[in-house]
Amino acid sequence: MVAKAKARAEWVDGFLFVGNQLALDFLNTRLILAGGPQELLTDVAALERWLVAAGVLEPARRPGWRNSAKGRQSLKRLLSFREKLRAEIIRREGGLSISETFLGELNRLLESHPCRMAVHRGGKDLSLGLVFEPRVPDDVCAPIAAAVANLLAVVPKDRVRKCESATCVVHFCDTSKKGARRWCSMNLCGNKVKVAAYRERNRSRSP
Ligand SMILES: [Zn+2]
Repeated sequence: MVAKAKARAEWVDGFLFVGNQLALDFLNTRLILAGGPQELLTDVAALERWLVAAGVLEPARRPGWRNSAKGRQSLKRLLSFREKLRAEIIRREGGLSISETFLGELNRLLESHPCRMAVHRGGKDLSLGLVFEPRVPDDVCAPIAAAVANLLAVVPKDRVRKCESATCVVHFCDTSKKGARRWCSMNLCGNKVKVAAYRERNRSRSP
């Protein structure tokens, strides 16, 4: 029962949410699964569904860009930005700095697509959240750029890493107390790696 509940939380509407951070969840919309590499943001409708699943877009505010050429162009630009982000995160995980070129592109996005914030009352506490009311397809850049800025400037970089499974391309922010998280998910990779290691140990013990 517990495993089932966990699996539901990791996958929402066919998208993986194990990154603990929006920009990482965005990065993880291109995966390598059992059947090989998979692009989850296959079209503008999928991007809309991802934004809803990620909690960025309210379902009632779905803008209906799916058949527009501008929507398709925005998606193409966004996917290109996602792959640049991937290269930068891999560089940084390898001990290098984020490139000036990428920082320049990110700052241009932040300037041309500013985010509006609002304070909401949820019971006794107040919380700060982003207001996302997209009018044109490129508005999607606003929450993505803000999340990438947060990832690079606020999230501790030693907590951002790739899943240890060699065949997996999922990155996550380790929010565990000990900071010892190794896999994107026990369901996806952890159990597979453990079983493989167990088999390997048993093989090396045999005469
Ligand atoms: Zn993995």
